[in-house]
Amino acid sequence: MRIGVIGAGIVGLATAREILRRHQEFSLTIFDKESGPGQHQSTHNSGVLHAGVYYKPGSLKAQLSVKGIRRMTSFCREKQIAHEVCGKIIVATNEAEVQRLRELKERGIRNGLTGLRWLNAGELHELEPHAAGLAGLHVPEEGIVDYKAVCCCLLEDVCSAGGKFMNRAKVLGMTRRGNEWRVSTTAGIHAMDYIVNCAGLFCDLIAELAGVPREMKIVPFRGEYYQLTPKAQNLVRNLIYPVPDPSFPFLGVHFTRLIHGGVEAGPNAVLAFAREGYSKSTISLRDMMDSLLFPGLWKFLLRYPSMCWEEMIRSFNKQLFAQALRKLVPEISENDLVPGSAGVRAQAMLGNGTLVQDFWLVQRPGAMHVLNAPSPAATASLAIAEYVVNRMTL
Ligand SMILES: Cc1cc2nc3c(=O)[nH]c(=O)nc-3n(C[C@H](O)[C@H](O)[C@H](O)COP(=O)(O)OP(=O)(O)OC[C@H]3O[C@@H](n4cnc5c(N)ncnc54)[C@H](O)[C@@H]3O)c2cc1C
Repeated sequence: MRIGVIGAGIVGLATAREILRRHQEFSLTIFDKESGPGQHQSTHNSGVLHAGVYYKPGSLKAQLSVKGIRRMTSFCREKQIAHEVCGKIIVATNEAEVQRLRELKERGIRNGLTGLRWLNAGELHELEPHAAGLAGLHVPEEGIVDYKAVCCCLLEDVCSAGGKFMNRAKVLGMTRRGNEWRVSTTAGIHAMDYIVNCAGLFCDLIAELAGVPREMKIVPFRGEYYQLTPKAQNLVRNLIYPVPDPSFPFLGVHFTRLIHGGVEAGPNAVLAFAREGYSKSTISLRDMMDSLLFPGLWKFLLRYPSMCWEEMIRSFNKQLFAQALRKLVPEISENDLVPGSAGVRAQAMLGNGTLVQDFWLVQRPGAMHVLNAPSPAATASLAIAEYVVNRMTL
């Protein structure tokens, strides 16, 4: 059996590894358009190990992030990848948030997290002396990790199990004759029996090339970070998160200590003008037209007008960014922030303007498409891989 995995992000790499763990006899090729593995979302993220406290009980995200964080931490231990289970606190800054935080704690327990601890203001202060809040939730299983090293180790495992990595091999088209796929890439045409689409920001377009009618579109949301200056880094010990706003589809800006040193603040969530639009000035007319001609985007903008506008304004205004962060750590000032990196989220949106919250797989004869793998898919990648391979009819 010849398997072609499209995309050498963390999900594609983990899936390729899982296929070869179960079927050493298969011939497997990973195609990626870039020069090396994990050059997009998988290394342009917060580097956090999320345990699944936020997700709806029973959802794939809830199941696979709890399982996934345990798989990921033991993988990191086994491969000696830099990681630290330092714990996170979620901070409630008003009564409404305290109530929502209680619900989050219940959710976390139902999802199978262990060690969740309610913190009063004093206990919060002991764990994070500069965070302000009425109450907090300590999530001790969470942590930080070097996802770039994870991607490299996954690729090493794939190659030592006989898999091939074709870099600079952008998939341009696919046709199916009988039971065989002809995959056209910038590095030639390849015959495959089964394809797995893990193309992240381009997964909807790849699915379309393979004949899957488009029910959704990937809408790129850029997440911009600031770094804390060395002087301000002592204001944050580990991970400080807000209680997510239920009317906002992302987690809200937060503080993250990085595994190789430094502290980041962010990310925001701004509509990007290109699928790989890592800076404000990166514009792809094709991607922009693709988004603008999609009725779902307009419905989304009408549903969340103030959020979209405020995120855009805050992206250009450091003072407003600092103001949002001061809600969690009041001592932070604008001068403590220097511009940092950015990532672009591949977020699936339906035609009615709803963001797809859960992971989403679509299976077709001879193909599996991973059509929505946003956060925490890096943490959950090893569990997603098991789930995907369990469902592949090989
Ligand atoms: C700002 C931000 C912060 C995040 N923080 C976290 C976090 O702290 N913890 C966490 O668990 N998750 C986090 N996430 C989510 C996580 O990074 C992603 O869910 C995960 O990396 C998705 O992996 P992937 O393999 O699906 O996609 P990607 O890593 O994007 O990989 C897709 C691959 O497909 C390739 N590709 C695309 N088109 C083609 C083509 N035509 N031909 C060949 N190759 C192609 C690309 O080059 C790329 O390598 C964050 C994401 C963002 C953007």
